Amino acid sequence: MTQFLNYIGGQQRPAAKGWLDSVDPATGEVWAQVPAGGAADIDDAVRAARTAFPGWRDTPPLQRAMKLRAWADAIMANAQELAEIESRDNGRVLKETRQGDLPGGALHVHYNAGLADKIVGDTIRINPSAFTYTQYEPYGVVGVIIPWNAPLAMFFAKVSAALAAGNAVVVKPAEQAACSILAACRLFDEVGFPPGLVNVVVGEGPDAGDALVGHDDVAMVHFTGSTATGKKIKQRSAGNLKNVSLELGGKSPNIVFPDADLDKATVGVATGIYTGGAGQSCIAGSRILIHAEIFDDFVARLEAFASKIDVGDPMDPATDMGPVAFRGQYDKVRSYLDPAAVIFGGRSGPDMTTTGGFYVEPTLLNASAERARREEIFGPVAVAVPFTDEAEAIAIANDTSFGLAAGVWTESLGRAHRLVDALEAGTVWVNTYRRLHWALPFGGHKQSGNAPANGVEALREWMNLKAVWMET
Ligand code: NAP
Ligand code: MG
Repeated sequence: MTQFLNYIGGQQRPAAKGWLDSVDPATGEVWAQVPAGGAADIDDAVRAARTAFPGWRDTPPLQRAMKLRAWADAIMANAQELAEIESRDNGRVLKETRQGDLPGGALHVHYNAGLADKIVGDTIRINPSAFTYTQYEPYGVVGVIIPWNAPLAMFFAKVSAALAAGNAVVVKPAEQAACSILAACRLFDEVGFPPGLVNVVVGEGPDAGDALVGHDDVAMVHFTGSTATGKKIKQRSAGNLKNVSLELGGKSPNIVFPDADLDKATVGVATGIYTGGAGQSCIAGSRILIHAEIFDDFVARLEAFASKIDVGDPMDPATDMGPVAFRGQYDKVRSYLDPAAVIFGGRSGPDMTTTGGFYVEPTLLNASAERARREEIFGPVAVAVPFTDEAEAIAIANDTSFGLAAGVWTESLGRAHRLVDALEAGTVWVNTYRRLHWALPFGGHKQSGNAPANGVEALREWMNLKAVWMET
């Protein structure tokens, strides 16, 4: 059995409290163990990061960028191995991890490296007798908490942004899928990162995660995960009033008008929920709003598409959709499969042709599934809701406490613009869906978060603003 170790102060270390099992969701069997880190391990990691911080802060930004680029190259060189570990550990198909997140994660590191030496403040002339300006500074030690659906992609994106800004980092991955991140820590040694600059402590959220959020020497925490945990983290961080940036859940509407290119829309809507990590994606288009005129036709198209999705072994490069990542999530997803509401799909686990793992069939429920309409399911399960006009589509789309993303399918330019303005979401896609890029800001409105990821804006999240008034 492989045991993956924490990474603290440049050393691979077990946790004082022992081990947690990591399950291969394609079989339901334990395949590896990760450390059960707790407050003591977090404390060691924060101390190591504090030691590393001043040297990194004072490293000329272009040299920071060069180190980050060397890390990106090392990620690329090890992409196959890392993608395989992640697919084994959380069940996302190799097609997505190997062709999507890696190289995507490495390219994101390159992008943030490019920002490292372009951090600039403003000169603000107030009166002739003063020189007044702003500058951005790193916080110091920052914490990063990561969920299990795309661990490496988030690890590379968040850590590279934090480092480009000049911080030292302590990362707490999700214990259900931490193996790929722990395996990737070896690269910091290869590239020659200063010991303690990046530390990774795996442990349970209420234990290691809570200790990180509550730590007085941590100046800022970035959290990606569920809205419920995000609220707890905001409260828990009140002790030293640390800055908290949150990327949270979603219940995103994907809206199909009769004037859409329905062939394109079928692919975009189906892949927006089913094949992106088996629906375990914060931006999953889990509410499919379809104009009444085309409702039956479009549902039939979705069913035909879904029937061709190859569900099975995530390690097979041909597989389109793998299992749900672990038993707790599998049980949660299954609890939404109300047989009375199933339009298509609805089978799971041993009822499917693929047996032995946490498999759920691509499923569409009708609008009578009240819980499934409102709550984030985080699985390959969507709800189809009919509407009769633009105003009704907007009202249904916005009738949620989430505001992460939305999709609009129409060939009318005017309608597209009206919808972009009216939808309460951090990202709106028109005639496409689930497209993210490191250069384009991405973040939630309403209860989906408070911070932009990606783009130049994301780097600001990792820096403190200082104003200077100098009398001349
Ligand atoms: P989660 O249950 O909120 O957990 C996320 C992370 O927080 C895990 O590392 C977890 O640790 C940790 N955690 C749990 N309780 C904690 C506590 N009291 N204090 C500190 N840390 C704690 O979310 P998840 O189920 O793993 O991930 C799925 C969610 O993430 C979905 O809601 C999804 O929409 C959201 N997500 C959002 C984005 C975005 O960019 N907006 C991207 C991806 C995912 P353990 O699991 O190890 O206990
Ligand atoms: Mg696992």
